[in-house]
Amino acid sequence: MHEQGNRRKHVVVIGTGGTIASSGADAIDFHNYSVSSTVEQILTAVPEAGQIARLSSTQPANVDSFMIDNSVLLAVARAAKDAVQDDAVDGIVITHGTDTLEETAYFLHLVLPTNKPVVVVGAMRPATAMSADGPLNLFNAILAATNSSSVQKGVLVVVNGHIYSARDVMKRDTSSIDAIDGGKYGILGEISGENVNFVHAPVKPHTSNSEFSLFGLDELPHVDVLFDHQSAGPHLYEAALAAGAKGIVVAGTGNGSLSAGARQGAAYAHDAGIPFIRASRTGQGIVASLKSDSEHGIISANSLTPQKARVLAMLAIAHGEGVVGLQDVFDNY
Ligand code: ASP
Repeated sequence: MHEQGNRRKHVVVIGTGGTIASSGADAIDFHNYSVSSTVEQILTAVPEAGQIARLSSTQPANVDSFMIDNSVLLAVARAAKDAVQDDAVDGIVITHGTDTLEETAYFLHLVLPTNKPVVVVGAMRPATAMSADGPLNLFNAILAATNSSSVQKGVLVVVNGHIYSARDVMKRDTSSIDAIDGGKYGILGEISGENVNFVHAPVKPHTSNSEFSLFGLDELPHVDVLFDHQSAGPHLYEAALAAGAKGIVVAGTGNGSLSAGARQGAAYAHDAGIPFIRASRTGQGIVASLKSDSEHGIISANSLTPQKARVLAMLAIAHGEGVVGLQDVFDNY
């Protein structure tokens, strides 16, 4: 059973858009849909959620998540911070598109000053589709947000009955119902009916134990991710630096190995005093530091994917970390 006791927990549901708030032309339209519903409207589709929590909602955005930029990300984060800092609020749920859910979830994981449950949720099928997954995902997310075992677990992602840590979660398939996955780090727990069962807890610092916050953060620095491959040229690195990038993350091959072009890009970044972070296009595993990193002050992303390395790099750079301190940040978070 869900939390005993007469007082239903107060959960704020923060809507940002995504497939969970989308509708298509008919029940077999799985791809050509658009965002159509507000967070209040998707909540009306799950009346049972009102039986397990006292719900209120806000809507800082209503877009596909592949359209979220740094300004929208900050607006969502500020709405989440305001909600968790309200003493009357017990937990929050953020409804979000799945395409970039992992980036928003990890950003919130690093900046929200709270131990309260924070749960991000999305759906692979629009509300109008046959076997839509949004309603149950949303119910499960609200259930998790009311559960005391979700406290001090950092930002969680609840999809398909699984509970993931924001640090590990990634979208690993274009359209499969189980596209959201934890990779080699797996799940923290799972939801079965009204039972929220955790079997693991995050180890790396997050939320109230993170050194990062939104304080004084009016904007985020521009950090680019570049994809390495055979015969890659240095021109994209030159272009990123010319466009004002304050950091570059390369999705290197294997252990974050660099092509000749990418290594030239690292030299350009080093000469410009811009942090250059080596991640891996494989999507998982620790990118081991190499002796050759010292030549251009290259930083290892440790076990963060390129897209999450960019999130951490933006925050660390915004908080004044230079090339030297960044390796400690990546080894710690
Ligand atoms: N197809 C994506 C989703 O599942 C669209 C988005 O990320 O907004 O939500």
